Amino acid sequence: MSDVSENLCEIKSAVSEACSRSGREVGSVELIAVSKTFSSDHIRDAVGSGQLHFGESRLQEAEPKIAELPGSLRWHFIGSVQRNKVRKLLGLFEVVHAIDSLRLAAYSNEIARELGLFPKVFLQVNIGKELSKGGFESSELYEAMDDILNLDRLGVLGLMCIPPPVDTPESARVWFAALREMRDDLEARFGVRLPSLSMGMSADFGVAIEEGATHVRVGSAIFGKRSYRIDGELG
Ligand SMILES: *Cc1c(COP(=O)(O)O)cnc(C)c1O
Repeated sequence: MSDVSENLCEIKSAVSEACSRSGREVGSVELIAVSKTFSSDHIRDAVGSGQLHFGESRLQEAEPKIAELPGSLRWHFIGSVQRNKVRKLLGLFEVVHAIDSLRLAAYSNEIARELGLFPKVFLQVNIGKELSKGGFESSELYEAMDDILNLDRLGVLGLMCIPPPVDTPESARVWFAALREMRDDLEARFGVRLPSLSMGMSADFGVAIEEGATHVRVGSAIFGKRSYRIDGELG
């Protein structure tokens, strides 16, 4: 067995353990294998072990990989979205995880209409109010929510966050809980369903699942240590 399939196997059982600890069904959590900086061969290894959902954060890097890999794979764009890339992104990715402004949401809606698409998106929240991070400030999101929900082409799945760096997985719990509480509050105030929470990475996906994550984005724990950082990458 390759390292990748062995790692995947371990991650999957850690995901199911976290699910049973919190009384949730295993099927309620989507494991997204974050393949940024890793080659198509790494991705093929994962596919060989049954992995279907992959996350990438840079269009230039993802485009050739998506082109050469089987069309059955499901691609998630987890990076920050540049306006001039929206048209291509919507054509290639099933889910965009980091819509971080009303302006970007409205523009994506326009492009989606032109392309005849109904993209699924997450709204990224800057949960730790960090200057260095993208995402809606919470008050900003409450103000924008009505307008966002009126965008007829965007299927808003829920909220996404990248919490501030912490020393232990347990210390990330407050941020995951805060995102869940914000989701619950938005649902109540705006009378909508926001069923999904994209939160949790290699170090802390177990805690994220306990706090309600439906999409965990796991890279290095599956593919190994990334040998270079990419622009805008955190951590
Ligand atoms: C790189 C990245 C991940 C995966 O990080 P790991 O610590 O390698 O699991 C998850 N989410 C986002 C937004 C990323 O950029």
